Amino acid sequence: MVIVASTENYKMSLRRGCARLGLSPSDRQVETMIRFVDELARWNAAYNLTAIRQPAQMVTHHLLDSLAVLPYLSGARILDLGTGAGLPGIPFAIMAPERQFVLLDANGKKIRFVRHAIMTLGLGNVQAVQGRAESHKSQVRYDTVVARAVGASGKLAALAKPHCALGGRLLLMKGAEPGEQLSLNLCGYRQGVIRRLDVPHLEAERHVVEWIRVDDSESLRDGGVDG
Ligand code: SAH
Repeated sequence: MVIVASTENYKMSLRRGCARLGLSPSDRQVETMIRFVDELARWNAAYNLTAIRQPAQMVTHHLLDSLAVLPYLSGARILDLGTGAGLPGIPFAIMAPERQFVLLDANGKKIRFVRHAIMTLGLGNVQAVQGRAESHKSQVRYDTVVARAVGASGKLAALAKPHCALGGRLLLMKGAEPGEQLSLNLCGYRQGVIRRLDVPHLEAERHVVEWIRVDDSESLRDGGVDG
């Protein structure tokens, strides 16, 4: 009975958080996201997939933190580079069934969990791939490449470049104000908007930094910085 009560609390907290983000998930989507958190908490106990261990915290620090970036995806094909245990890719895929997601990570243990989650949740629009971004051969160029908590921006931008379509977006999910971005001048990209995110129930700062993939000559001509 206690378990049932707390599941209802997580659902309510997720629904409220989504409403604050301007999202209105269906009952089915809420259930699927909570099921994801349940599975993650269960596997985490054995395989240590994420530092956040409590399902209630996973709702805010993983689900809502990911969903805050959903409005900034563009196009139909999305790559989550360094997805770890499926973040932000799994919550995105649940909320955007019309888009196709590839979730890439070098870590076999984490990708095993992501595959388990895809099967258990019955997600038809996600593929999990184990491998390093350096050696991954994309079948397509992606309209958006997103990366959450995957190291330094300059290195990530270089890793993402061969996977990102011209005109596509690279979205880097960051914590505190990413001052370093302003001085980055990345060949092959034009800087887009740096957005401060307000993640419901989360006391920490969050930002998403956007880079737009252009051809290399264009980025040099423009100086790589936009407005
Ligand atoms: N995005 C997840 C995981 C962040 S941890 C989250 O927000 O919770 C960073 C992840 O990036 C790790 O799982 C690591 O295995 C992966 N990673 C780091 N460098 C990589 C590379 N070059 N190619 C593929 N995966 C990489």
